[in-house]
Amino acid sequence: MSTRIEKSDQEWKAKLSPERYHVLREHGTEAPFSGDYVHTKADGTYCCAACGAELFSSTTKFDSGTGWPSFTEPVNQENVLLHEDRSFFMRRTEVLCRACGSHLGHVFDDGPAPTGQRWCINSASLDLRPEDQKPDQES
Ligand code: FE
Repeated sequence: MSTRIEKSDQEWKAKLSPERYHVLREHGTEAPFSGDYVHTKADGTYCCAACGAELFSSTTKFDSGTGWPSFTEPVNQENVLLHEDRSFFMRRTEVLCRACGSHLGHVFDDGPAPTGQRWCINSASLDLRPEDQKPDQES
C-alpha cells in the first residue's frame, strides 16, 4: 500500500502518544467508552490524529451505543481506504486514512439512515477540529 505521507515507525513513535501509536500504527482498538469523543456533540470536522486529513463531519455522528464514535459516512470516500480484515476469526472491513495509511476503525452495514452504514472509529485516531478553526494538514 502506498500512501501520500510516509514515515518510519520511529518517526510515528516520536510524533504520537503511545496510545495513539498503538491504535493508528499497530491496528489497535481502544477500550469501549474510554475515548475522548464517544459522547462529543460539538460541531466540526474529525481529522486524522496522525496526519490531519479530514475524515468525518460532526453532522454525520450518531450515538451507536457501542462506546466508540460512530458516523454514517466519511466526509469524502477519497479520504479513506477500506481493507478486508480477517483477524480474530471475523470478517470485517477495516477503515484506514488514505493519506497516511493509519488505522481508524471498522465500517459495518448495520447503521442508521441515510447510508445504513456504521463507521465505528477509535477516538484515539481522531482530532476534532472545531468549525471555525483553520486546517493544519501536513503536505
Ligand atoms: Fe492520516
